[in-house]
Amino acid sequence: MDSVNIPDPPKRIFLVKYGEVALRQGNRAFYEKQIMDDIKRRIKDLHDGNIRVYREQGRFLIEDVNGDIDTDTILSRIKNIFGAIAFCAGIKTTERTIEGIREAALGFFRGRICDASFKVDTKRADKRFPLTSNETSAAIGEYLLDNIPGSRVDLHNPSIVLRVEIRNHVYFYVDAVPGEGGLPYGSAGKGVLLLSGGIDSPVAGYLAARRGVGLIPVYFHSPPYVSERVVDKTSDLLKTLGAYTGPLPLRIVPFTETQLYLQENVPPEKLTIMLKRAMLRIASAIAAKEKAHCLITGDAVGQVASQTLHSLAAVNSAASLPILRPLTAMDKHQIIEIAKRIGTYDISIRPYDDCCTLFVAKHPENKPNTQVIERMESRLTEGRLAELISDAVGNTVINM
Ligand code: ATP
Ligand code: MG
Repeated sequence: MDSVNIPDPPKRIFLVKYGEVALRQGNRAFYEKQIMDDIKRRIKDLHDGNIRVYREQGRFLIEDVNGDIDTDTILSRIKNIFGAIAFCAGIKTTERTIEGIREAALGFFRGRICDASFKVDTKRADKRFPLTSNETSAAIGEYLLDNIPGSRVDLHNPSIVLRVEIRNHVYFYVDAVPGEGGLPYGSAGKGVLLLSGGIDSPVAGYLAARRGVGLIPVYFHSPPYVSERVVDKTSDLLKTLGAYTGPLPLRIVPFTETQLYLQENVPPEKLTIMLKRAMLRIASAIAAKEKAHCLITGDAVGQVASQTLHSLAAVNSAASLPILRPLTAMDKHQIIEIAKRIGTYDISIRPYDDCCTLFVAKHPENKPNTQVIERMESRLTEGRLAELISDAVGNTVINM
């Protein structure tokens, strides 16, 4: 006699949708593993370790092996994961017959419809299931209609869409909380983030990280001209970014001597450019040590004199790696909007001077000539500049 499979009672689960990574045929397994590991790392201490994270045809599922999961707590842990596009709290049933499925659907959707017009939308990833998506939607919709007083079907303009997914198991959910999107953190390689205490660079770091770039944050510190509190501010910014990326240790570059040297040896209108070039040289050396693939800055075209196209051109040759400037084409208000959304804005506007605003000339050049700058710099490099830069790299400390 055939053994009879008795379905488990429906239980609360989380369904995680991931977008773009699913399209990348060659690297798909690599990307999926990264997101899955990230989910596991963030929730492993919950539910006494009884959590299971697994994949079914283009979705991740999170469940407690022994019963329902606490969806709010799980969501608070995983909602910032890069690569995920939506989180759906729902239920799972192991029922495979349409009778069993529609009964489970009634149990889940009953309290959610109350007087509203609805539509059932089915995705059938498991093509072995005997009904098509439309047939399944119709069978469930009819059953709900018969059993929920006051309910109405509206296929064109429903107040609520009831989602059904038929995979190895069957899942129901209603709402999807949008995720961050992007690519799994670190999947694109690593970059040195030049992180000041300002509004822009944390946003630049966030945007690069969302495209899969692992961050190595570096802050150029010039005590006693800049307060130690800027270091705290920068560390606080990294705690906020860390909600997306995981812990981000800060590298602090002692920059005072380089800064004073340049201030004494270059004309004031060229100082900002020369400081930027020194920063890029130091950041490039750190990137080489860390095997990073790029530098990342918060520059936006035309925002200040040092960010005109001429100025950006005049600093670029000091870097030995490509410079990512994720904010390049953004207006300040767009940058501020992102800063507010990701939680860095309130930290960035704490009023302490950063080294560039402190040493900046009243009338910096906004169309510097790259060759003039490079000639001037090479004279200084033959002097003490090379030594100061290599000391700054060597004396960089990591603030955990
Ligand atoms: P931010 O808002 O990021 O401070 P900003 O608009 O003040 O940028 P600048 O001061 O010209 O512009 O700096 C441009 C970029 O240079 C910054 O976004 C950052 O990437 C880098 N930078 C400037 N100062 C520092 C510093 N002290 N430490 C690390 N990076 C810095
Ligand atoms: Mg700044």
